[in-house]
Amino acid sequence: MHIENTVRLDFKDVLIRPKRSTLTSRSEVDITRSFKFLHTSTPYHAIPIIAANMDTTGTFAMARALAEHGLSTALHKHYSVEEYVDFFSKLETKSSAFYSLGIGDGDWEKFREVMRLSGNAVSFVCIDVANGYTEAFVSFVKKVRDTFPDLVIMAGNVVTGDMTEELLLSGADIVKVGIGPGSVCTTRKMTGVGYPQLSAIIECADAAHGLGGRICADGGCTVPGDIAKAFGGGADFVMLGGMFAGHDEAGGERVELDGKVYRRFYGMSSKDAMDKYSGGVAKYRAAEGKSVLLPERGPVENTVQDILGGVRSACTYVGARRLKELTMRTTFVRVSMQINEVFGKS
Ligand code: 5GP
Repeated sequence: MHIENTVRLDFKDVLIRPKRSTLTSRSEVDITRSFKFLHTSTPYHAIPIIAANMDTTGTFAMARALAEHGLSTALHKHYSVEEYVDFFSKLETKSSAFYSLGIGDGDWEKFREVMRLSGNAVSFVCIDVANGYTEAFVSFVKKVRDTFPDLVIMAGNVVTGDMTEELLLSGADIVKVGIGPGSVCTTRKMTGVGYPQLSAIIECADAAHGLGGRICADGGCTVPGDIAKAFGGGADFVMLGGMFAGHDEAGGERVELDGKVYRRFYGMSSKDAMDKYSGGVAKYRAAEGKSVLLPERGPVENTVQDILGGVRSACTYVGARRLKELTMRTTFVRVSMQINEVFGKS
């Protein structure tokens, strides 16, 4: 057994300190990013915010709505081959939709079929497992890279610099970071495993950028300020589940209760999701996600405006003319302390 005493931080533990600035208006801030990737020459130029590949956020409707604002969507993996082929064949901006897959044989065969039938119309993929620390995952990333050299591959999830490096060296262009911070995730409660998300972002970004890789901060953002903190901490992309859930374009059953309308939002490892897609929770495992009812929120457009407005304003406060400059201009101020620091115990 080993204990690490270094303090690790979550979004709630810090604020961004304002800095002198020559900017006069938020409208002067450019929140798009252009990226070159480690393994492919496929270009990217957009707003690096991505809807999560959950079936309650990563829908075709969400992808179309977010693309209009320059954002992207990681599609969930439960559409049919025909639906993906139709969608990707008509997709104008390739980076506006990621095809998601797990590492099972079925996922692999389905993806190859989509690529074959669509004439390799998919350019961005998200290889997604709850635990990105397994050898099987690393081998799968290598296999996808070897088979499709032109793909932009996002892969995760991990929370430490060593595994970020391993995934990048195995063929990933973007490493997805986050274990346990999700709004409907119960991994920390069920297993005791996790890592404070802001520190995970800072440490993984440092490791990735040293190799020319990118990271996507996944989970734990509940307000636009958290997204600004994620970018400030070094995230190249930010993925959002709960903040995009409950809208007209999101999936999720509509429920009426006491005259109010709600939408069901559940984790992809929750009992609800496993009942729907895997015929129930297998005997050897426990659900690591929960199900909540969110008040219906209307079109996603208003939320997008809030998010983009918040991020632009954060850039203005620290004098960052472009989102790219936000990390460089960010100084975090700690606003909470661990209990033993307050009471002086060692
Ligand atoms: P949010 O933005 O809602 O805080 O987090 C979204 C992220 O939570 C997703 O992108 C995914 O990584 C994670 N997630 C989604 N469903 C589950 C689940 O059932 N269990 C766990 N552990 N994480 C989940």
